[in-house]
Amino acid sequence: MSHDRYEMVVGLEVHVQLRTRTKAFCRCATSFGDAPNQNTCPVCLALPGALPVLNSRAVEYATRAGLSLGCAIRERSVFARKNYFYPDLPKGYQISQFDKPLAEHGSVALGDGRTIGITRMHMEEDAGKSVHDRFAGVTAIDLNRAGTPLVEIVSEPEIRSSREAGAYLKAVREILVYADVSDCSMEEGSLRVDANVSARLHGETALRTRTEIKNLNSFSNVERALEIEFARHCAVHDAGGNVRQETMLFDANRNEVRSARSKEESHDYRYFPDPDLPPLVLTAQYIDDIRNALPEFPAARRVRFMRAFGITATEAEVLTADRDICSYYETVATASNDGKVAAHWVMGEVLAACNDGAMVASAIPVAPQALAELIGLVSAGTLSNSAAKTVFAMLAKEGGSARTIAERDGLLQIGDDGALRAWVDEVFRENPDEATRFSGGERKLQGVLVGLVMKKSKGSADPKKVSQLIGERAGK
Ligand SMILES: [Zn+2]
Repeated sequence: MSHDRYEMVVGLEVHVQLRTRTKAFCRCATSFGDAPNQNTCPVCLALPGALPVLNSRAVEYATRAGLSLGCAIRERSVFARKNYFYPDLPKGYQISQFDKPLAEHGSVALGDGRTIGITRMHMEEDAGKSVHDRFAGVTAIDLNRAGTPLVEIVSEPEIRSSREAGAYLKAVREILVYADVSDCSMEEGSLRVDANVSARLHGETALRTRTEIKNLNSFSNVERALEIEFARHCAVHDAGGNVRQETMLFDANRNEVRSARSKEESHDYRYFPDPDLPPLVLTAQYIDDIRNALPEFPAARRVRFMRAFGITATEAEVLTADRDICSYYETVATASNDGKVAAHWVMGEVLAACNDGAMVASAIPVAPQALAELIGLVSAGTLSNSAAKTVFAMLAKEGGSARTIAERDGLLQIGDDGALRAWVDEVFRENPDEATRFSGGERKLQGVLVGLVMKKSKGSADPKKVSQLIGERAGK
């Protein structure tokens, strides 16, 4: 049945791990993939008498994240205990923020003119991890992750389609990676998404009952889960029923959303200010310093690149997707004075050369100045396009200067009239039949003669000039 009558209403909660070396309230490492329970101490094991000490780097990153998402930063925020019982939560509560979060009232632009509001962003610590061993029939606990610093970013329920949810997540990730506060790796769990979804008739202004889909671990899973759950809501409404407010889980293998059968229907977390932690007080100067040091974000950079370098929106999109590629491109475009050609090189040869997926500046095999020099040689007619690709491969292998390599390997295009005339003379001498016919007016032989000169020069002659020189002998 078609659900065109209904509009999807979605709000997302994004949990992002801040890239600090140590945990939020103790000195244990936050590294990923270590042996279970290796990175623990009395504080994150919640031993009696152990007291939390706030990690100042986590505060700095959280403040930067909030400002990057256009939020106002609260000068006085409060850590609160969120109480619940779960095997991987040794304290019996999570340190979070409740009615006085660090950041509020932000927004994220989607690039198509749409903007999604951000209600709030607060700091919190992560819980541990339950590892279910089906063969042994036991559940084991790994507390390496317990106490890792997170921010939770809560959007307004302003997202209207699964595609828009994907665009929002992409924009949030891009901003946080540019702000250098998180690697946002979904594989390693440093970005996790909960989605609140409901359906209502187009034109309706009130919100209908929502359900929450927990722990979505890829952007495509978010989009798939939203479509499935939205369709279920529409069907319930069409049948005249009521959607029950509950927590759902998405099973990617079976492509289904099912109830988490949670007994705690209304969560009563009994929040209260953590007596072990004083309020977090930031000075206006501290916040301003972080604001003033924010980088230029991709959306602004795309607009600037399109104006300054004459590239298309699609090209700007590809070239700003990664921070290192982006600054690499800007250096090449500026140094070569040809942003369009620089875009082709970076999107072609350069991206192909770092095809292991790890696009960091140190992995780009050719220095930006060397590529700019190479582009200059091609535009001056000193190097042909195909020879330039050979030189690029050599630069990737051994570094150095484009001109030096081209000279050493005899790849420079010869545009010198004397040398070219000598080759043309030779070709005319060695092929008297074609030469006579061409001189007699058979113009279609010009291509053949140019080809012979190119062959004689082993590809080093400038074909345009050769063509011109041969053309001068036509009809004589
Ligand atoms: Zn610890």
